[in-house]
Amino acid sequence: MTIGTTENPLRVAIIGAGPTGFYTADALLKNKEVVVEVDMFDRLPTPYGLVRDGVAPDHQKIKSVTKAYDRTAKKDEFRFFGYVELGKDVSVADLRNYYHQIIYTYGASSDRKLGIPGEDLIGSRTATEFVAWYNGHPDYRDYEFDLSQESVAVIGVGNVAIDVARILCRTHEALVETDIAEHALEALKNSKVKNVYVIGRRGPAQAAFTNTEVRELGELVATDALVVPEEAELDALSQQLLDEGNDHRTKKKVEIIQSFIPNTRTDKPKALTIRFLVSPVELIGDEKGQIKAMRLVKNELYQTDDGTLRPRATEQFETVSVGLVFRSVGYRGLPVEGVPFNDSWGIISNDEGRVVDYETKAVVTGEYAAGWIKRGPSGIIGTNKPDAVATVKLMLADFAAGQTLTPAHPTAPEAEAFIKQQQPQYFTYEDWLKLDEAELAKGKEQGRPRVKFTNIEDMLTAREAQK
Ligand code: NAP
Repeated sequence: MTIGTTENPLRVAIIGAGPTGFYTADALLKNKEVVVEVDMFDRLPTPYGLVRDGVAPDHQKIKSVTKAYDRTAKKDEFRFFGYVELGKDVSVADLRNYYHQIIYTYGASSDRKLGIPGEDLIGSRTATEFVAWYNGHPDYRDYEFDLSQESVAVIGVGNVAIDVARILCRTHEALVETDIAEHALEALKNSKVKNVYVIGRRGPAQAAFTNTEVRELGELVATDALVVPEEAELDALSQQLLDEGNDHRTKKKVEIIQSFIPNTRTDKPKALTIRFLVSPVELIGDEKGQIKAMRLVKNELYQTDDGTLRPRATEQFETVSVGLVFRSVGYRGLPVEGVPFNDSWGIISNDEGRVVDYETKAVVTGEYAAGWIKRGPSGIIGTNKPDAVATVKLMLADFAAGQTLTPAHPTAPEAEAFIKQQQPQYFTYEDWLKLDEAELAKGKEQGRPRVKFTNIEDMLTAREAQK
């Protein structure tokens, strides 16, 4: 039987309905050689992954990328199975019975640790959980963050750290205009946070945040963006590399950071201070085990053999009072039963997108990865498009070479019947679009872009009511 025809399409399961999942679906469905049918799975009833649950609510423009995803989802060859969890409702072994190819695009939902004493104290939290909480991710809606603290530290100087710091510093009036989850809007309204420290272990030229993100900190209406003048100055090595190179973006970044000097306060009620060349070495607790301070060591930079500048601790220490600490030092992917995993990198073991055995590097036929679970948590949303396209190219090449899985039940009705049996409450894309309408309507009533469902029970009830 020839596969890849209208009668017998190439059937692909995409695991994860985030940006990479949609870019993968789009590339597969746009190809001109092979007829493909795509079934996209997500453990949540709602699609869009990090665009819904990661992108900061005050960055609504970025979220408009979902319009392109909806266009992909409209195609006849696309189906969505929301609220179906791989490893719980269906296994990889199950999927191999129904699909010729499986591609994992489920991202990196866990976080990296600092590995310092005090990391488990009360008040030591991860940026990932705070971000998921304020974005209304159902798994995190009941989390609580002690916003009665006046001083908060965010460890790391990537875009996620900047998002967290900015959300802590936004006024209620500004947050009302976003689609931030209602519980977070309420909690942040009563927040006592006055000082936010963002902690970078290297210098301004090595900061991972992008220029647009850091520039925005200088535009906050109720917060002074500050730096410590001597930390914002470049050390000799960074200055030399910047002078020799052609890196305009970094030059601009340093300029923006230095514009946060002088280190003086205006009458704005909050202060956000970006620190450079310091690393937390210990979180210090009180007798109840609650964080009361962090101990920082001053770093200096040295050049490694590959030319990069790395931090090295000096003998200079300081202690800063903080009651809440968010570590924001990068995400990590989680393994799925039956799929080879590279635990040190937190990604699926793969060779440019083809899943491979971790030890032998032998290709696992018919299985692929794209996005953060393929390459690690780097880049912006758009970075995942060429990444997905590259993996799809391999998928189509392998198909042409006859290298696919050999499912016993390779048809859409058989797959649907199986999923219905495993998870009778699964959500279709139509179901999602109705939830979407309801969220937008509630938003309109309140003069907000949308009011999100943050609870799966509520989503199920709303779907019943709409029937
Ligand atoms: P990231 O960009 O990799 O930043 C991680 C930060 O943590 C870096 O500053 C890193 O410093 C620091 N770090 C790592 N280990 C540390 C340690 N032990 N002690 C102190 N600092 C440590 O990661 P992210 O912020 O989680 O963002 C993930 C990706 O999403 C990035 O590509 C980001 O650009 C993207 N994103 C984009 C947007 C947007 O476009 N608006 C918003 C959010 C996220 P070193 O550089 O010294 O390692």
